[in-house]
Amino acid sequence: MHVRATTKVYGIFGHPVSHSLSPIMHNAAFRKLNLDCVYVAFDIHPTNLDSATQAIKSLGILGVNVTIPHKERIISFLDETSPEGTLTGAVNTVKNEDGKLTGYNTDVEGFLMAIKEDLGVIPRGLRILLLGAGGAARAVLTGLCMNEASEIYLVNRTIDKARALASEFKKSYKDISIEPYSLEDTDSVERSLRTADLLINASSSGMKGVAPIKLQLELLPKDSMIYDLVYKPRETDLLKGAKELGLKAAGGLSMLIYQGAKSFEIWTGEKAPVDVMRKAIV
Ligand code: NAP
Repeated sequence: MHVRATTKVYGIFGHPVSHSLSPIMHNAAFRKLNLDCVYVAFDIHPTNLDSATQAIKSLGILGVNVTIPHKERIISFLDETSPEGTLTGAVNTVKNEDGKLTGYNTDVEGFLMAIKEDLGVIPRGLRILLLGAGGAARAVLTGLCMNEASEIYLVNRTIDKARALASEFKKSYKDISIEPYSLEDTDSVERSLRTADLLINASSSGMKGVAPIKLQLELLPKDSMIYDLVYKPRETDLLKGAKELGLKAAGGLSMLIYQGAKSFEIWTGEKAPVDVMRKAIV
């Protein structure tokens, strides 16, 4: 890669950000398509988010991804937000068009692409047990509601967060049943497991350094499936449990790749070389 005076700059805003796989993935895509572009990581302290966002304009940076802890707060510094971004209340992609900053949430489409490609499912009409009520769960819930899932059991360690999220989404999606449960409410969790077509882990449980949630996976119907958003480690305890029971399951790496591919397409207008992006981070 040759960085020249003409090279266009993209990047990621996060804090911390040194663990991010996005620079490897996007630079591989730029190289593959021979684009005179470079992608770098910017460690932005929360107190500097406003000035850093203004600097996207003043420095002529063409686009950034946004990760923890800035996804929600950056919205107030942008000129416009896409419908998915507004509904999710979080933005993970910003495009700079002649000084106008628009925010998008490509996690929503990344998640939908991942379950379609890896599991062969679309949410329409499905009963879903969703674990978590943080940022990732909000993106998943947006995708599920926009695509007409029929029932969603929203299970979280902190019940108040699940209740708040469920009541917020119920206002926009009156036809979808969204029931919040505490992880400690074992009766409700067991009942949800017995009827779920798809179990999705959008909590941090099972990621490196965070204890996995213990679930009685054997209660799931034999044809149900599991999608675990966690991608570090690649094979989580949840995926191991699914394998033992012969359930179709997939981990979060594909969502990471598809959300990145969608960002790439929003910025460049080019079709993302998904296989190259996957190979770069695998
Ligand atoms: P977040 O906003 O911090 O939310 C974390 C969620 O996990 C909360 O619901 C929290 O429950 C729950 N949680 C944390 N530790 C737990 C534990 N020990 N037991 C049970 N629940 C626990 O984080 P996030 O952005 O939503 O990310 C969640 C996970 O998704 C992370 O592992 C992240 O890497 C992954 N993710 C993957 C992708 C992808 O592309 N594959 C995209 C986004 C996120 P409380 O409300 O009780 O705290």
